[in-house]
Amino acid sequence: HPINAHENNTTTCCYCGVGCGIVAHKDQLGRLQVEGDKDYPVNKGMLCSKGMNLHYTVNDYSDRLLYPEMRYSRNLPRQRVSWEMALERTAAVFRTLIDKYGPDSVAFYASGQCLTEEYYIVNKLIKGYIGSNNIDTNSRLCMSSAVVGYKMSLGEDSVPVSYEDLEVADVIFVAGANPAWCHPVLWRRVEAARQTNPDLKIIVSDPRKTQTCSIADVHLQLHPGTDITLHHAIGRALIEKGYIDADFVNDHTEGFAQYRKQVFSKTIAEAAQVCGVEEEAIRQVADYIGRARGFMTLWTMGLNQSVVGVNKNLSLINLNLITGHIGKPGSGPLSLTGQPNAMGGREVGGLSNLLPAHRDLLNVQHRREVEDFWGIRPGTISDKPGLTATEMFDALEDGRLKAIWILCTNPLISLPDVRKAEAALKKAKFVVVQEISNKPETLAYADVVLPAAAWTEKEGTMTNAERRISYLNKIMEAPGEALPDATILCRFAQKMGFTGFDFENTAAIFNEHGALTAGTRMDISALNYELLKARRSVQWPFTEAAGKQGTSRLFEDHQFYTTSHRAQIHSFPDDNHSETPSPDYPLILTTGRIRDQWHTMSKTGKVNKLKQHISESFLEIHPEDATPRQIKENDLVVIKSRRGEVRIKARLSDTIKQGVVFLPMHWGKILGKDGNRANNLTNNLVDPKSKEPDFKFSAVAVYRY
Ligand code: SF4
Repeated sequence: HPINAHENNTTTCCYCGVGCGIVAHKDQLGRLQVEGDKDYPVNKGMLCSKGMNLHYTVNDYSDRLLYPEMRYSRNLPRQRVSWEMALERTAAVFRTLIDKYGPDSVAFYASGQCLTEEYYIVNKLIKGYIGSNNIDTNSRLCMSSAVVGYKMSLGEDSVPVSYEDLEVADVIFVAGANPAWCHPVLWRRVEAARQTNPDLKIIVSDPRKTQTCSIADVHLQLHPGTDITLHHAIGRALIEKGYIDADFVNDHTEGFAQYRKQVFSKTIAEAAQVCGVEEEAIRQVADYIGRARGFMTLWTMGLNQSVVGVNKNLSLINLNLITGHIGKPGSGPLSLTGQPNAMGGREVGGLSNLLPAHRDLLNVQHRREVEDFWGIRPGTISDKPGLTATEMFDALEDGRLKAIWILCTNPLISLPDVRKAEAALKKAKFVVVQEISNKPETLAYADVVLPAAAWTEKEGTMTNAERRISYLNKIMEAPGEALPDATILCRFAQKMGFTGFDFENTAAIFNEHGALTAGTRMDISALNYELLKARRSVQWPFTEAAGKQGTSRLFEDHQFYTTSHRAQIHSFPDDNHSETPSPDYPLILTTGRIRDQWHTMSKTGKVNKLKQHISESFLEIHPEDATPRQIKENDLVVIKSRRGEVRIKARLSDTIKQGVVFLPMHWGKILGKDGNRANNLTNNLVDPKSKEPDFKFSAVAVYRY
């Protein structure tokens, strides 16, 4: 599998949303090697352990899917078939189901790891041509609460800051995140900023004392689910001390009076007690924020993955708004994206309730604009939001959904209450899995398997967490008959008889996506592959006024994207609607990442070096919770929830809040048994506005095996 003789073998890391630049080259044995791109503004040559070891995942073909496979009935094994036959049959089944049960009987479940062009095609295919909005991605499990939070507070899903703002902030508040492990290169930049500016204050809120806390001035070790109470209390302390920016609040926001009333409904002492933190710590945090010239809020899954995830987001963004810390250097909210291209997916409308370029599915004018652009009959795009990630599996279970096409994601590890999802896939009439690896558990249910080209084997673009679009070169050929995901989807669309998918190349897909953004707030219509190759990356919006590298900061004019052009300060009670612990399930389980593994390990699990840090899954439990249960270090324990159980070794640690236990999210089944899959335990309660699941709060019992 030769490496292409491209002069420029630059690409972007395919793991987290930091989006580090990589230079790939061939070693003497012809194998791919990678190093951090010193000229890339995001990482300036740095890579974390996962990025540094990416070449091992690329050079190891042992698990790659090489040929399409198909079976004619559930009782028969799959067999190798031609692309022609696999796509012909898939199209025939889809046509039959759509004719018989309607367009909403089929769905696509995609991934924040898809390239923007792939997202664009799958979204166009189902919304514009099949006539259903049943396209959702695993970004629903990750960023959808932040999307709604931004829309409700700022008027659009628009991250207002750049990473460079972190280097000029005076105070950084990291809420429910462990960037030292999960966004390591970005955190190295914060650590470097602290060295340059020892007065930089870092605040972390997290039930676990993580690596990120090692440089924190204040660690608010709160009870899970109490983030809103904490943020409200900080808001109250800021108001009491006169730290709000009254001019900004009066001139550029709405909702402050109601907010003031809401946050004053609890004293700071009461809030501290609810959260399980010191009252003095809350006041100290407010003092730091109140005196800052630049104040940034950072967050990720601790806020997003919650049944009240949107309110958690809004309550944090409120702290930026009441202090006027937005639209100026070193200030603003920055949601850390879990996946490399979750933002690119949102740009093309790749969720069941969105349309391209941040258009709204429920807005009839927006639907007409997209229909006109695609040249399809008015009314083709349905006004009914499609099924979200968890809803798709519910609908498979109860028979509303007949067929699902899963691409670039492994839902049988990553979905909440995963055994329910497994039962749903068993009931599906037709399952297509488009994958690079033969490992994902979904393959056991696949009627058709389509081998996809992996990272470095195709070109395309991604957008990182600071709105930075980068171009990824194709560096090597895909093995066997694997094809780029966009090619597979276009060929399928053509088999379905749809016009509008005969793109000459990937650049043409990007250009069509760009043209649809013209005149919107994320306008990149002037951008193309040539420019991207020359400039390596740009931040949207990329307009003439923005300059050569695009726009690094939004809202400098304080004109927000809401109808009134004012940012919205939302008010709501601080209730948490998670499941209730009980004497039978007294502990709270929270799940998350470890430093050297990525998602469901289909790539990082192949790299021995990445197992050196943590080689197997574990339950983290506080000694005060372990001792009464006679649990000692390394004992095998059973964790039970109302959904299922996990058996695993215990790790005792006083860095986790008493009453809380932690399981890594990465591991799947062991020897075909339920093993240590964290999502056996989680529930599929979702936030009503974002439909993001409540991964961080499951009531569990733990006892010695
Ligand atoms: Fe890749 Fe994220 Fe690590 Fe950068 S920080 S090398 S993008 S995993």
